Amino acid sequence: MCFGPLKRVCHWGPLIALGIIKSVTFSTVVCLSQWWPPQGSVGGKLVFLSFAVSAVLTLFFFLQAMLTGPGALPRGWRPDKESDVKFLQYCAACQGYKAPRAHHCRKCGQCVLKMDHHCPWINNCVGHRNHGSFTLFLLNAVLGCAQATVILAICIYHAIHRTWYVYYGSGREPRVYLGQWAIVACMFVLGLAIGVVLAVGMLLFFQVRAILRNRTGIEDWILEKKATRINILGVSVNP
Ligand SMILES: [Zn+2]
Ligand SMILES: [Zn+2]
Repeated sequence: MCFGPLKRVCHWGPLIALGIIKSVTFSTVVCLSQWWPPQGSVGGKLVFLSFAVSAVLTLFFFLQAMLTGPGALPRGWRPDKESDVKFLQYCAACQGYKAPRAHHCRKCGQCVLKMDHHCPWINNCVGHRNHGSFTLFLLNAVLGCAQATVILAICIYHAIHRTWYVYYGSGREPRVYLGQWAIVACMFVLGLAIGVVLAVGMLLFFQVRAILRNRTGIEDWILEKKATRINILGVSVNP
């Protein structure tokens, strides 16, 4: 049984996400420490530092987005001015009115402020309070996995084709020694890193677009639904 903040983590989404963050970070650090060790040169230090910053920030913003939460309306909420009630929707589940831009999340069982969507990977909603940290998590995950993709691909190449390297025999050849299963594991992690760059990169694009438009995912969906209904009725829609 999980209690408190652990309740958020004890779910397939955060557990898989943390597993991906850990395996990409671990494999990349192991490969990088052989291929371009940070103690060897300034370039090695910079590459290591750059990846380490992305990895730490990814984990930090992931935990912040998950544990801070989106901000919820108190149960039974009513506006200060009773006359405003006519502008608001009523939430039967929370026995209260929905503030503007708030929506009820069935998974979280509460009305969420400026709700964007319920994200299974953080096992929480994305909304008013955690939209910033969620977007920074996506940004750092894409940056970190893009670096991991390049580093892992180069290291796997060197681990397989050690003797073909141009510096072979010169004393400057890279020392990437990976066993058979380590190469297979690194290939699997490389696939994960590429998947994160593509899938999370797309999600990041939609989040940045939502921020620039100041329109949440749910509001986009409501507008699309409205446009579809108007189209079905044969009325022209303004862009
Ligand atoms: Zn509600
Ligand atoms: Zn939710």
